[in-house]
Amino acid sequence: MNTPEYPFNNSYIEVDREVLRNNARYLQANLNEGVRTMAVVKADAYGHGAAEVCRTVGRFYDRFAVANVTEAVELRKSGVTHPILVFGVPTSRMAKAYKEFDLTAVISANDHFELLEPGTTCHVEIDTGMGRLGMSVNRLEELRDKVDAFSGGEKKLHIEGIMTHFATADEKDTRYIEHQKEQIGRLRSVFNNVLPVHAANSAASLAHPDTHFDMVRHGIALYGYDPSPDPGTGLHPAMKWKSSVAQCKKIRKGESISYGATWQAPEDGYYAVVPAGYADGYRRNLSGMMPVLIEGNWYRQVGRVTMDYVMIWLGKDAHEPGTEVLLMGGERNHAGLWAEAMDTIPYEICCGIHPKVPRKMV
Ligand SMILES: *Cc1c(COP(=O)(O)O)cnc(C)c1O
Repeated sequence: MNTPEYPFNNSYIEVDREVLRNNARYLQANLNEGVRTMAVVKADAYGHGAAEVCRTVGRFYDRFAVANVTEAVELRKSGVTHPILVFGVPTSRMAKAYKEFDLTAVISANDHFELLEPGTTCHVEIDTGMGRLGMSVNRLEELRDKVDAFSGGEKKLHIEGIMTHFATADEKDTRYIEHQKEQIGRLRSVFNNVLPVHAANSAASLAHPDTHFDMVRHGIALYGYDPSPDPGTGLHPAMKWKSSVAQCKKIRKGESISYGATWQAPEDGYYAVVPAGYADGYRRNLSGMMPVLIEGNWYRQVGRVTMDYVMIWLGKDAHEPGTEVLLMGGERNHAGLWAEAMDTIPYEICCGIHPKVPRKMV
């Protein structure tokens, strides 16, 4: 019997440092000499715990990126000293925070130049086809003049890079990314290659080496899910979601389990009640779909997922209360497989585990 690390929590996330580091090594082995690296740790490092992820992979990455100033300030307060890029839209309300916490802003609209405090470090974002943030790729000359104007004088900003984002780097059909690459080519020539350019997310970094330019941005791949159209085997999920048996109950053939009485025992046996449910991010849509691992054996989750519990059919095996249950993160139930079962992407699964579930590095 395995005693959980957190005796008063129903379930917890374990993140394996060595797996994260191996993923970082694997991702960096295929970069050209001199390409810099940014680890994307937004959304609490895709649910893995941002401060600890930064601590763990800091020596592999030059920079970190987050979604907003709040996330960045939290990282600074936890002692992260790397440059931190904030992808989100700057507002005048937060302009001072960029300087106070030494954060790198992303200028994604014309008025951001004026709004940021002089001396703020920033990157300029250009929309080459993503259709989200960034200034139009059709007005590059105008933008270059603006960048020039703000690179000196009283309102001088410290503009140190240009970024853009791909919409389809994870798809087999490469026509759209080829179109974006052309736009980036234009962008680089208009800016005369003086400012470093970064564009590649995980999928582009893996599948399109010609998009590495001056820096790559690794998110999902660092956490162990290969988003490229032709996934390799070099990345491994860093996250395991564990709980333990709360009760082990006898059930007779034909008796049912959980709301809706949708599942009946095929024979006399046992089932485990495990304290994790949709309030923790165990999605109800997955009712009856994902297996769990208990003491080296795979068992079916059966019946509806409830708010605080799932039930596991054990057949003839009885498992003591307190026995560890691997809900997610094994070879048959990692977040990539959850995502397939739910017709979504592993990003959403990892981010969807409730923040109340403790994260622990091992
Ligand atoms: C989230 C994000 C990334 C990381 O994407 P992955 O697919 O997780 O590697 C990179 N760049 C931007 C702008 C992002 O928002």
